[in-house]
Amino acid sequence: MRILIVDDVPDNIRVLSTMLADDGHQISAATNGRAALKLAASCAPDLILLDVMMPEMDGYEACEALKADPLLKSIPVIFITALADVEDETRGLALGAVDYITKPFKEAIVRLRVKTQLELKRQHDILAQLSHIDGLTGIPNRRAFDERLDRDWRRALRSGEPIAAAMVDIDHFKEYNDAYGHLAGDDCLRRVAGSLADGLKRAGDFVGRYGGEEFICLLNGLDAHGLAVVAEKLRTGIEALQIPHNASPVSPWVTVSIGAAIGRLGPETAASELVEAADLQLFAAKRLGRNQVSLAR
Ligand code: GH3
Ligand code: MG
Ligand code: MG
Repeated sequence: MRILIVDDVPDNIRVLSTMLADDGHQISAATNGRAALKLAASCAPDLILLDVMMPEMDGYEACEALKADPLLKSIPVIFITALADVEDETRGLALGAVDYITKPFKEAIVRLRVKTQLELKRQHDILAQLSHIDGLTGIPNRRAFDERLDRDWRRALRSGEPIAAAMVDIDHFKEYNDAYGHLAGDDCLRRVAGSLADGLKRAGDFVGRYGGEEFICLLNGLDAHGLAVVAEKLRTGIEALQIPHNASPVSPWVTVSIGAAIGRLGPETAASELVEAADLQLFAAKRLGRNQVSLAR
């Protein structure tokens, strides 16, 4: 796993990094708190070993800044410092560090304490991943979508690159369940999810289960024409699965309706408007007869 070592004394860095590299970890190093914050943001370490007394920004300040940053606060921090008073240790742990080791340290003890924290981090990462996956279909869930939308929207505001959403809803799915049973319905949801995921291959594309038989896609950098092409490709991809749906009045196969919209980027706009716009178009696609794409213009 990745470990960031922060210490103003190069010899300390050398000893710790040699030892932990021996254990198979990837090491990066910084010599003050400010540099450590920068590196933490760019190299996403699984653990930070943090000295306290350093020039520019000390370890306490750095820990405080890490814990105040939503993207960095889940990285565990172990202080390794010559400050051995109860007050110092209390302060470090109160700032959110998971452990506090005093110098001179014993190599074997550092190794074992690091191992424990990395194991906890590994488990934390697995749980975080599972909580973002839809259990039925295996694609990202609503929570993952909300977080992704927030991130992509902010990036689009900064860069001015267009961001689009496509809301996908299975046609007459209630009738499908009624005709074939809920287990077949579940299977149908899995196959539709798989088709959508296969259809979106560009880096940065996202598809998740929005809820029930609705899916949502986020597509970056497309103009209206590109969005229409991609959405139509997703629709035909599902039709081409040829999942029989005898109870559907629109097709012998399972079909979807898709509402798509491009976000209006501006200081007064919100990401939720993009989802609402796509939803409105989905409603239009349903009203116009289903098994089609409707695009905001
Ligand atoms: P429309 O064409 O207007 O979208 O009609 P519809 O029947 O698809 O829409 P409606 O909202 O009336 O019904 C959605 C159905 O989706 C009802 C619900 O039982 C089913 N559904 C939602 N989640 C699941 C699921 O996880 N598994 C199964 N099998 N069915 C689900
Ligand atoms: Mg629905
Ligand atoms: Mg439906």
